[in-house]
Amino acid sequence: MVDNSLSPHGGVLVDRVATQAVSAASLRGLKSIAIRDQIAHECVGIAYGYFSPIEGFMLREDVEAVCERMTLASGYVWSVPVVFDMSQADVDRLSLREGDTLLLTHESQPVATLDVEQLYSFDKQRMAERVYGATDANHPGVQRTYAYEDVFVGGRITLVNPPTINPPFDRFWYPPSVMRQRFAEKDWGRVAAHQTRNVPHAGHEWLMKGAWFAANADAVLVNAVIGEKKIGDFIDEAIILAHDALRDAGYFRQDVHMASMLLWDMRYAGPREAVFHAIVRKNLGCTHHMFGRDHAGVGSYYDPYASHRIFDEIPPIGIEPVVTLEWWNCPVCAGIAYEGLCGHQDSKQDLSGTLMRATLEGGVTPSPLIFRAEVFELVMECAQKYGFGSPFVTENYLRNRRPVLSFGPLS
Ligand SMILES: [Zn+2]
Repeated sequence: MVDNSLSPHGGVLVDRVATQAVSAASLRGLKSIAIRDQIAHECVGIAYGYFSPIEGFMLREDVEAVCERMTLASGYVWSVPVVFDMSQADVDRLSLREGDTLLLTHESQPVATLDVEQLYSFDKQRMAERVYGATDANHPGVQRTYAYEDVFVGGRITLVNPPTINPPFDRFWYPPSVMRQRFAEKDWGRVAAHQTRNVPHAGHEWLMKGAWFAANADAVLVNAVIGEKKIGDFIDEAIILAHDALRDAGYFRQDVHMASMLLWDMRYAGPREAVFHAIVRKNLGCTHHMFGRDHAGVGSYYDPYASHRIFDEIPPIGIEPVVTLEWWNCPVCAGIAYEGLCGHQDSKQDLSGTLMRATLEGGVTPSPLIFRAEVFELVMECAQKYGFGSPFVTENYLRNRRPVLSFGPLS
């Protein structure tokens, strides 16, 4: 019996995709501005309901509420600002006024129209302090906040040009309405979401398996964040294909696991980003969300378990957090062991980022206590096929990779 009653955040799945094909001619004459990748990703996220109940870029009162109370102005829990910024020079050049319709373009192609409801400013330092608990520009989220232009433009959007998701990502892109349909077809009532921006090592595999048990789930949904990359990150193709390979190789049964993607540029907001992740996965139809150690953190800005505790500090949001300690490699237990059970803390071997990197750079098939052979092979293949020889993001990859999504010309 499928319990498909899990409502989207705010009760209704937002749909801001134009209901009829929009012609290029109908957009002619609109004031228009080019947007960066991040804003294009957010237009897609808003339009397809990933960010329900948000229907556009936030108004000042929403940003204020997000910063001070971790809610939208409407009162629904919300943790990170989703804003559209413009320079004063661009506002002046376009003579942009409240009440205008602004066309947002990406690589010279139309993406969405924005109903300009409000032009406002906001203290970026206060925004950074409230959202990130930091004002130091070494924090990538703080840096992103300081980089916003001075004018914020709030209002609803309409996606006028649905994106093309390019291979190999196309088969992992399920907007919330489609995802919910897939869950129903698969008879999945209880689904535990796994947030990732990593190639799965043995610890990740067991984190997912443990959460599946803890949630008494029908399935695990891997939802990989695909967006802005830093040098040294895993390449996007390796992340998503490796998760898929884990199931194909039988470490998860075909009917209990699915890999998918989310277009989102990580803010590294630690606990607040954990809340955001939970809301998005709720909108996708998941009933549970796993949170391991240092979820969405960066450096040493957050306590490793701040993302666990935050769910005790906010009202229930309708998706159950499944919080877990670490899974590590324990030679005494002779396998992957759970921090909450294994008594050999002194012997444990952390599955650290440094170890992962050294293993992949070594090029020799590792022990399954580090990576599954199938995952390792796949990552090596991706390095050749997509990474210009490396499984990690390089300048070359950033310049020459095939874009994840593109917007074609309208007729
Ligand atoms: Zn042990």
